[in-house]
Amino acid sequence: MQVKAPRGTYDILPNDSVKWQYIEKIMKDSAESFGFREIRTPLFEHTELFQRGVGQGTDIVSKEMYTFNDRSQRSLTLRPEGTAPCARVLIEHGVFSGVMPVKWYYQGPMFRYDRPQTGRYRQFHQFGVEAFGSNNPYLDAEVIILLVEIFSRLGLSDYELHLNSVGCSVCRDAYRQKLLHYIAPLKERLCQDCRQRYFQNPLRVLDCKIEACHQAIVGYPTIYDSLCPYCQEHYSRVKVALEDNGISYIHDNNLVRGLDYYSNTAFEIHLPGIGAQSAVGGGGRYDGLVKALGGPDIPGIGFALGMERLLLALDRLGKREFSQPSLDAFVVVMNDSYEMQGLQLLNELRRKGIRADKDYGGRSGKAQMKYAGKTAARFVVLVGEEEVEKGFWTLRDMQNKEQFQLGQEELISSIRCVIEAK
Ligand SMILES: [Zn+2]
Ligand SMILES: [Zn+2]
Repeated sequence: MQVKAPRGTYDILPNDSVKWQYIEKIMKDSAESFGFREIRTPLFEHTELFQRGVGQGTDIVSKEMYTFNDRSQRSLTLRPEGTAPCARVLIEHGVFSGVMPVKWYYQGPMFRYDRPQTGRYRQFHQFGVEAFGSNNPYLDAEVIILLVEIFSRLGLSDYELHLNSVGCSVCRDAYRQKLLHYIAPLKERLCQDCRQRYFQNPLRVLDCKIEACHQAIVGYPTIYDSLCPYCQEHYSRVKVALEDNGISYIHDNNLVRGLDYYSNTAFEIHLPGIGAQSAVGGGGRYDGLVKALGGPDIPGIGFALGMERLLLALDRLGKREFSQPSLDAFVVVMNDSYEMQGLQLLNELRRKGIRADKDYGGRSGKAQMKYAGKTAARFVVLVGEEEVEKGFWTLRDMQNKEQFQLGQEELISSIRCVIEAK
């Protein structure tokens, strides 16, 4: 029997899950303070959703999806990303007929059959936001400001924000022609993938990871110079809004998003010091997506952050100690015959919001005391013959080394008083 987790997956043990909880809480609180609300969608969808919503020509759809037939021979796919499912929800539930924009955030696992490497897994996790129903450039700015806010709340202030506009379908078509014309005589110097991209989508040559390809096309025409007046205006409003809110960015001509339904604002956030591929997240406007999925013509913008890369960045920067949850009280039963009194007391403590536990290993009173020390519980409550007969409990404060005999109500209020002050 195979007793290892599948390649490209991993377990998050309790010592690490506190980090996840910490980061997820910051993301959730940040998004909610910007008026976004949580959405949860299924882990699998009809394959067609991603074929249409992510695009047939992409690496994701052509070679990275976990696609399978269920027992009724429906083709299903484990979600490789979160935007297409959100667009589906918008259409399926008729959400677009209500108040717009609709602002959602999501978090959870995504699945791509990719070569596992540092910070990259086959089951990976993303946090993302989507805002549907407005093409106002200030909404673009707001989404970017939220992204930056999350980084600053995480203490990751050394990020680099890359920004570009990929235009609309009109100016991008004209640009595509210009680019094809420019690259045609240089094609032989491009990598194998780029030669393929040249025919499918020449814009994707611009974000090739291979340096030689950049050398080959140096001096290429930029999309920025091809933007139509509407797209120029949109882009400059986004930039002004960012500047006026004290957010610096780098205009990046290489930042293009190949798919046809992407439009206008595109951005990525990088953290130096986490390896060659320093992008931790990115996003942009996708005004054609909802329509491409058979819905009404509704614009949208969003971003997604890779949780693993973010954790890697936090670890490498040696950022912070994550405090582990600890017990408030440990109930030590001195003698087997008071087991039931111990259990009743334990449950009463828990009902009153005190984190408490006891031994289930049949240890002696002395061994239980030692065990209680290892749990780092602030208090130990002794349940012994004298206590049961006289109707009080012995409370030992492990920090101050003090001991008291208290009735049950006093005991509970004393413990709560200390833990609430923490
Ligand atoms: Zn345009
Ligand atoms: Zn290339």
